[in-house]
Amino acid sequence: MENAADRAVLAIDFGGTQIRAALVSPDRAVHARRAVPTDDEEGVDAVLARIVAVAGESRDEAASSGLPDPIGVSISSPGPLDPWRGVVLMAPNLSGWRNVDVAGPVRDALGLPAFLERDTNVAVVGEWRYGAARGTRNAIYITVSTGIGGGVIVDGRPLVGADGTAGEVGHMVVDLDGPACGCGGIGHVEAIASGTAMARDGRALMTGDPTGVLAGLAAGRDVDAELVARAADAGDAGCMAILERAWVAIGALCASLLNVFDPEVIVIGGSIAEHRPRLFEVARTEARRRVLPVLFDRIRLEPAALGGDVSLIGGLPIVNDRIGDPAHAAGSRQPQGAPS
Ligand SMILES: [Zn+2]
Repeated sequence: MENAADRAVLAIDFGGTQIRAALVSPDRAVHARRAVPTDDEEGVDAVLARIVAVAGESRDEAASSGLPDPIGVSISSPGPLDPWRGVVLMAPNLSGWRNVDVAGPVRDALGLPAFLERDTNVAVVGEWRYGAARGTRNAIYITVSTGIGGGVIVDGRPLVGADGTAGEVGHMVVDLDGPACGCGGIGHVEAIASGTAMARDGRALMTGDPTGVLAGLAAGRDVDAELVARAADAGDAGCMAILERAWVAIGALCASLLNVFDPEVIVIGGSIAEHRPRLFEVARTEARRRVLPVLFDRIRLEPAALGGDVSLIGGLPIVNDRIGDPAHAAGSRQPQGAPS
């Protein structure tokens, strides 16, 4: 869906590992890229200062290259967060991040309206407008990496929810008696199919089999999901079972999402999904086993199309759609009730 009225935006994406910034032009090209480590152990203010600094550098470089001026700033962030006030409520992977105003400092420092959105919502909007869900009115995005997240488009609009947390598909229950999730819940798909869960299961496997393939590959290093996957590729039956169970859980998640939201497509991205085509094979089979019969013949599970730039490119519609929206006016001015 091309939008001739779209104008360039300054896009920021930050998480537990790095802070990125770039200018995204209306043709979705990404210019003047900047990336620095987040280094969240230095504290909230230091991270906010780095966010402002890299965004400013990117804008200056874009300006000196003759690129169009951005009309606003999109900020893709871990959640949960309040997209209307521009405040991160809690970021489990960033130490000390509770009720942090991010849009305010960015707006004040850069003199541009700034809009904060959960990383997975930026991704679903990006994939919906320009990627694998293009042309649909109902779509779901799932990211499978360290955690599992997602976003939902219903009847041509991103689903936000009462608290801004709608679409947190990683916390859907797929196993009544399953393992505890990082959020405190039980049997959530993130506790079974995320990179964190695979690493946990890998460590348990290695404890019971200290001379196995995984232990050999680890050679004393900490086990992560990539190592479990490599051991599975090398034929380790226990690691293959960990991966298969994860893909089955994702298939069950897809079936539930299909049954509830009736989307035209489910797009699956993230670092694990990108490198594991078998995920799609197993998830499609499992989704068919569990979906309502009426949906059986038209299940579409597609790999994400925009790759790692989705959280930057998705900023284009985020800013252009919200800039005139009174519900997001806090992104353009001092929030009501804030100290002056
Ligand atoms: Zn959970």
